[in-house]
Amino acid sequence: MKIHDVVIVGAGPGGLGCAIRAVESGLSYVLLEKGQNVFQGIVDSYPRGKKVYPTIPKSLNGPFPIPDLEPSEANEPVEEYVAKIDACVVRHGIDIAFNEEFQDISKEKGRFTVITKNNRYTARKVVLAFGSNIPIDLGVYGEAKTIARKLDNTEEHIGAPTLVLGGGNAAADVVSTLSKAKRDAGDQTPIYWGHRKEQFKVNKEVARDLGEEILLGGNIKILLSAIPKIGEVDEDGVDRLLIQTSQIPLGKGVDLQQGMSFPMKHVIACIGTQGPAPIYEQLNLQMITCTGGICRIGREGAKLILLDAHYQTSIKGIYAIGGAISPSYIAVEEKGSFQEVKHPNLIFTAIRDAQIAMADIVKRMSKRPSA
Ligand SMILES: Cc1cc2nc3c(=O)[nH]c(=O)nc-3n(C[C@H](O)[C@H](O)[C@H](O)COP(=O)(O)OP(=O)(O)OC[C@H]3O[C@@H](n4cnc5c(N)ncnc54)[C@H](O)[C@@H]3O)c2cc1C
Repeated sequence: MKIHDVVIVGAGPGGLGCAIRAVESGLSYVLLEKGQNVFQGIVDSYPRGKKVYPTIPKSLNGPFPIPDLEPSEANEPVEEYVAKIDACVVRHGIDIAFNEEFQDISKEKGRFTVITKNNRYTARKVVLAFGSNIPIDLGVYGEAKTIARKLDNTEEHIGAPTLVLGGGNAAADVVSTLSKAKRDAGDQTPIYWGHRKEQFKVNKEVARDLGEEILLGGNIKILLSAIPKIGEVDEDGVDRLLIQTSQIPLGKGVDLQQGMSFPMKHVIACIGTQGPAPIYEQLNLQMITCTGGICRIGREGAKLILLDAHYQTSIKGIYAIGGAISPSYIAVEEKGSFQEVKHPNLIFTAIRDAQIAMADIVKRMSKRPSA
């Protein structure tokens, strides 16, 4: 198996910045992106036509460390900015491994193996640049492997009942888009829209699109108080999700539960995002819990990652940068003391972090005895 100098997780401004620095420094790298585009996080989270600002925090000085990634002073719309970044990827000869969703890291003999849904990559260093929007888990066995978080390909669901989970705009959007695709294909199989609460929370425009879909004959079935319970593999080897749809107490601690079971490949869970703390916990990266007086930015109870001056985590060789360490982290100083550091979540900061982390990696790699 090839051993890379560095595996970079996430092709946003931070991850792309790292890859550009790797190329310039002659380091071998793999840039993993769970989506199908560079800057997928930005493509997914910015409203259409949103102006992109080249904001530099007051506490830091410009210029942009990698000028090619700087949003223009004219505040171009996000579509133009992303098109410019596409061209920049080609110009810098950056390879991106798309549809590679990071899952875990193992360490053996000083090398890291980064595990994605489909592959394993071995490297001497790892940079975590996966941003701040990590999907919330349903908390059932097998979900990471099979349950989608957004509607990637409507075709995959034509001809099969589909379960969409979530009570907000994202879930509602998926329901109406999929319903239209099914109608257009003459497919009568239902879309079940499940939410663990008793009310959906969607804005007027989304509600209007949904209403239109239902009037036009969309086969949408609503499941309220629908609670994901169990992930299991059935006798045919199919990963399935069991959701509880009702629970009737029969007395003396006995309940009558009813539910439905769906193949996980036809489940789309749009149940929101959270910060990356659970991933850091899974990777055993040291964090500090904000309690009275320790943090000014982090909320009471929030877990903040511990980093050195080059964004190296408590596991030497693993770095974390950009949105993944915003809005604040705990800096460990050389004397061993530590303090919370404000870290604005901006394109500039992500690219600046990339520059600092990669400079440290290049320095350490050049000290490495040649093999
Ligand atoms: C609505 C909105 C408007 C904004 N406007 C501005 C602005 O005008 N100017 C500005 O400077 N900043 C703005 N920001 C902030 C800016 O977008 C972020 O600071 C910046 O994108 C952070 O870069 P990043 O590389 O750390 O993370 P991201 O841009 O989030 O990139 C992370 C990448 O990692 C990928 N990823 C996530 N999980 C995985 C995984 N498990 N495996 C593989 N890949 C993964 C994602 O798909 C994504 O492509 C805005 C943010 C939002 C939400």
